[in-house]
Amino acid sequence: MTTLAHPASLTGPAVHGDLPGPRSAEYLARQDRRESNARAYPRHLPIAIAEGSGSFVRDVDGNVFIDFLAGAGVLSLGHNHPELVEAMTGQLGLLTHALDFPTPAKDEFTAAQLAMLPEGMRSRMKLHFCGPTGANAVEAALKLCKTATGRGDIVSFQGGFHGSTHAALSLTGLVSQKQPVANTMPGVHFFPYSYCHRCPVGLEPDTCATNCVEFLERSLTDANGGIPLPAAVVLELVQGEGGVIPARESFVHRVRELTRELDIPLVVDEVQTGCGRTGTWFAFERYGIEPDVVIASKALSGIGAPVALIIYDERLDTWAPGAHSGTFRGNQLAFAAGVRAIEVIKRDGVLANVVEREHQLEVLFAPLAGHPWVADVRGAGLMWGIELADPHTGAPASALALAVQEQALRRGLIVELGGRGDCVVRLLPPLNVTAEVVRTAAGILLAALDAAAGDAR
Ligand code: PMP
Repeated sequence: MTTLAHPASLTGPAVHGDLPGPRSAEYLARQDRRESNARAYPRHLPIAIAEGSGSFVRDVDGNVFIDFLAGAGVLSLGHNHPELVEAMTGQLGLLTHALDFPTPAKDEFTAAQLAMLPEGMRSRMKLHFCGPTGANAVEAALKLCKTATGRGDIVSFQGGFHGSTHAALSLTGLVSQKQPVANTMPGVHFFPYSYCHRCPVGLEPDTCATNCVEFLERSLTDANGGIPLPAAVVLELVQGEGGVIPARESFVHRVRELTRELDIPLVVDEVQTGCGRTGTWFAFERYGIEPDVVIASKALSGIGAPVALIIYDERLDTWAPGAHSGTFRGNQLAFAAGVRAIEVIKRDGVLANVVEREHQLEVLFAPLAGHPWVADVRGAGLMWGIELADPHTGAPASALALAVQEQALRRGLIVELGGRGDCVVRLLPPLNVTAEVVRTAAGILLAALDAAAGDAR
């Protein structure tokens, strides 16, 4: 087995020959025979991954890639951060699984999570440990709010993504994933999101606080509006899978005000934006609001050990013992890693790095403004999206985005797609990524875009 050099000693990505390489092709063919048709990532990123270190992965053929997918935003400190590996190794052999019993590892993790909240929220927020996926935490948040309010309807936003389980899917915008699955959770009402680049109601950009939220307000307060007062309003502050769309601040503020006025719990889904991704621990801090429920999962352990939480105002804590149970809610390895991750993030100024890299990407992507196929470039912290559209028709340039992803991979960069028709090229690097790796990755992406757009002309 080849071993991966420490990223510091790697001068850059290295891809030899066609992709997939011969060994990857064997793995992919076996996977194709044995695994479900629902498998997703390797269809567009055809590699079998042998190992990872920091911002890099090496495939089974020895090709090295910059990994700006990072486990879909899970690996906030990159692959195999040595101190997180050490924390997990220290826990291994002591205790690995403990349902929802209190343990020293869980106790420390809980204290560390609460301490990351803004001071005013620390004493009034409670944690519930969920089954270890974002979707399970979404389910928990819905059940909590329904139980606490005695109401049944939910408000969600167009373009949002909240997971693949039945209720989480029902809140999700993606029609193609919902269509084959009849009878998802009823009572979900979709409202326009702050997507000013393609205004969902076809009005002037930057008027979503007035137009979109006013529509929400009128719908919820009109005696003939058709929607009973909902149990929750569920919001992504930056839509991730929906195409990296940071909501306008004014929109978020108005949603917060309105939900307070109407006494509707505001649930922010921070599965993707949480744990430092946008430069603050949670994105709601960046927006200067305090939600009633926070959903967190992906990067809580920093290393991909699964764990998911809802953090909520104690006044909502009305559910009965066992109300949201689940066997895998006590992953001690994830807790140990998560405690160490917070220590490392504070010590190494990782959140400051996120902000610096955000500004770096802003500069590096500035030349894209004049590119005929680039409709919009958006980012918050270290989640970035480049939306591609046909310069003649304005239609989402899905085929081009796919070609950019492929060209980037060939040059040694892993990126994801999202948004309408997957027309947005998305970057989710580790939060401790260096300036040098960001520069290299941006260079690859621009070259990939030029190559792909050249072919598209
Ligand atoms: N909410 C958001 C905002 C997400 O981005 C995701 C995953 N991409 C989920 C929920 C679902 O998380 P999981 O895949 O762990 O169920």
